[in-house]
Amino acid sequence: MPTKRDYYEILGVSRNASQDDIKKAYRRLALQYHPDRNKEPGAEERFKEINEAYEVLSDEDKRSAYDRFGHAAVGGQPGGFSDFGDLGGFSDIFEEFFSGFGMRGGAATRRGPRRGEDLRYDLTLTFEEAVFGCEKEIELTRLETCPVCHGSGAEPGTSPVRCPQCNGTGEVRRVQQSILGSFVNVTTCPRCQGTGEVVHSPCHECRGAKQVHVPRRISVRIPPGVDTGTQIRLSGEGETGLHGGPRGNLYVVLTVQPHRYFKRRGDDIIVEVAINVAQAALGDEIEVPTLEGPEKIAIPAGTQTGRIFRLRGRGIPHLRYDGRGDQLVVIQVAVPTQLTAEQRRLFQELAKTLGREVIPQQDKSFFDRLKEVLGM
Ligand SMILES: [Zn+2]
Ligand SMILES: [Zn+2]
Repeated sequence: MPTKRDYYEILGVSRNASQDDIKKAYRRLALQYHPDRNKEPGAEERFKEINEAYEVLSDEDKRSAYDRFGHAAVGGQPGGFSDFGDLGGFSDIFEEFFSGFGMRGGAATRRGPRRGEDLRYDLTLTFEEAVFGCEKEIELTRLETCPVCHGSGAEPGTSPVRCPQCNGTGEVRRVQQSILGSFVNVTTCPRCQGTGEVVHSPCHECRGAKQVHVPRRISVRIPPGVDTGTQIRLSGEGETGLHGGPRGNLYVVLTVQPHRYFKRRGDDIIVEVAINVAQAALGDEIEVPTLEGPEKIAIPAGTQTGRIFRLRGRGIPHLRYDGRGDQLVVIQVAVPTQLTAEQRRLFQELAKTLGREVIPQQDKSFFDRLKEVLGM
């Protein structure tokens, strides 16, 4: 068993830190390492460690015992105080902590409001919907307060009664022995789960659960300029909290389908167009697709493959500030693969005038030019 780290060190606070400092440090670290948020290896161990340290340092009695006797005094060994069980237990601790109600142990907080769960919805958009924004209706099922018992869990006409095991306090006390003597350990009442009430005739709709799954249609406004991975938060559209707690949030996570012609790079759009050898040599005016429809651009005589024309402000609207990206038109000179007799004759004429000398290329390659234009 590796040596345990110092609890103050784990929370990154000094030995004379105030309860407020300890609480703040814990809150910040717990958010950072919570297993629901942080999937990095070691995060779960770290989260356990943080919780263990907080459990001791947030309790003045345990803290002073720890200050004097170290880890042994507060049972910081397997089977000590810090037995959080599985991840389900973690979540409970986490929710209690952030429910905004008392910090002094589980029972008191369990009775308080509990925030509803956050929900995630994956939504796929077409390229145009993402670029221009849109309004989407999504369908999902979420937990809401039972409409029959209005969240009491009791069949209409009956009421919950005071819990006989805890006498309505929601907590049970139990004396525990330690090397420092006996102390009282307060835990949540197992019968009523801390609510202080039990239901004799459960509601027929929710079977006493106080909440039911309800299908909902929700309209989501997608702003212009979103991309794959953009998350849209709909505050309070998650699941209903318990005991009057606030609702969770709904996160709509976006995936954008690729476009036939347009490739996206940040807020710029890249389009490749092919022109023929005559257009390349003589110059021409060509039509290129843009987000607003076809647009004419002038191709100067002697245009090479890989040349890039920039249409300023014709790209994708910036999501978080005004303006738009650019459109980059990348030219490909297409060499004909099948020639009519007439074309073949003309090319032969042309060939005589062009000569047969082969010149090694010193010109920048296409990729170098692309990099230059894109600032890569
Ligand atoms: Zn009900
Ligand atoms: Zn009880």
